[in-house]
Amino acid sequence: MSDFTFHKFLIKYAEIGVKGKNRHLFESALMQQIKYALKKTEGSFSVSREQGRIFVDAESDYDYDGLIENLQRVFGISGICPVVQAPIGPIEQLCGYVTDFLAQVYERHDQTFKVQTRRPKKDYPMDSMEVNREIGGAVLDAFPEMKVDVHKPEILISVELREQVYIYSHVIPGPGGMPVGTNGKGMLLLSGGIDSPVAGWMVAKRGVKLDAVYFHAPPYTSDRAKEKVVELARLVSRYTGPIYLHVVNFTDIQLAIYEKCPHDELTIIMRRYMMRIAEHFARETECLGLITGESIGQVASQTMHSLAVTNEVCTMPVFRPLIGMDKQEIIDLSEKIGTYETSILPYEDCCTIFVAKHPVTKPNLNIIKHSETKLDGVIDDLMKAAVESTEVIIVSDTK
Ligand code: ATP
Ligand code: MG
Repeated sequence: MSDFTFHKFLIKYAEIGVKGKNRHLFESALMQQIKYALKKTEGSFSVSREQGRIFVDAESDYDYDGLIENLQRVFGISGICPVVQAPIGPIEQLCGYVTDFLAQVYERHDQTFKVQTRRPKKDYPMDSMEVNREIGGAVLDAFPEMKVDVHKPEILISVELREQVYIYSHVIPGPGGMPVGTNGKGMLLLSGGIDSPVAGWMVAKRGVKLDAVYFHAPPYTSDRAKEKVVELARLVSRYTGPIYLHVVNFTDIQLAIYEKCPHDELTIIMRRYMMRIAEHFARETECLGLITGESIGQVASQTMHSLAVTNEVCTMPVFRPLIGMDKQEIIDLSEKIGTYETSILPYEDCCTIFVAKHPVTKPNLNIIKHSETKLDGVIDDLMKAAVESTEVIIVSDTK
């Protein structure tokens, strides 16, 4: 490729399942997420749509690599094509556009190629096959060292005949998934670990907008631990748009549990209170479910027995997208999405401070419920105070 500068990008998205009314919602949400990605990118841009395609136009000098990187975080995009646009005209003119395109975009002209024409504008006087043939002939005339290969061409020249002609030969893969905002909202329990940011990312990839809740326990957990969680939320918000992060002061609840309940049950009881509070905020912010980074068997609080006991306090669905993943698979994903380096910073987590040496791995629901009765008389007020003192931080990646 040469250093030719493109000013227009054709955005491809999977159209499966987006027929009728849904399609409009899908496209609007996708455009909104693209605009969010562009806000962070150096340069000024506009976004428009035309018959199953979205276009991004650069209206000034811009940062190409930054643009591609940011668009590759927009769920719903399947491909990003740097494209050249020209007015529609007779076939000789189309042939000229394509040979100019090859002359400008490529330094070498000895590759194999194939022309692939699409004709959403059905009133063009030739069909796609004829256009392919004419353009192919013109390319061979202009660049005698290029050869046709219909099976595995080195350059697949795409020509789309719409209100205008669009020519591209490079499809940069997008992240796939569905645009955030097309599938309701979920409340992510976000800790400072490796797992929960990945869990949020996975659910957001299916079109779910995120809010988040973090439980901290000052002074047992530091401001730096909280800052780390805010940073993780920011890293996730590069994919999701702004996240309302609820920071709950959990200290007094944890101390009460520590004081009154059996120590081998601390983690389970604490997690049940986290779920209750998370569900409170989920309901308040119209989230349709909770999201956690739990994975079967990872730690004592994530055995099937423990998950069942934790889950019992929830009336909303709890989504655990990492449920069947090994730690290494989760680590690989967290590296891919860019949260790993922050997740492994060594700041303490509120759960690790109050953990017992030998936590129960097969908690019995009745016993746990009985232990929780020891909190009667104090826990309602503590929960109320925790909810009322919760700080909401709007975390976003834009300036
Ligand atoms: P790690 O990578 O250390 O396993 P983790 O985030 O999975 O990190 P766990 O102790 O395994 O931490 O907790 C399981 C899940 O519970 C988390 O994925 C997260 O969804 C939720 N959770 C745990 N601690 C907190 C917390 N302090 N605030 C909010 N959510 C939490
Ligand atoms: Mg975990």
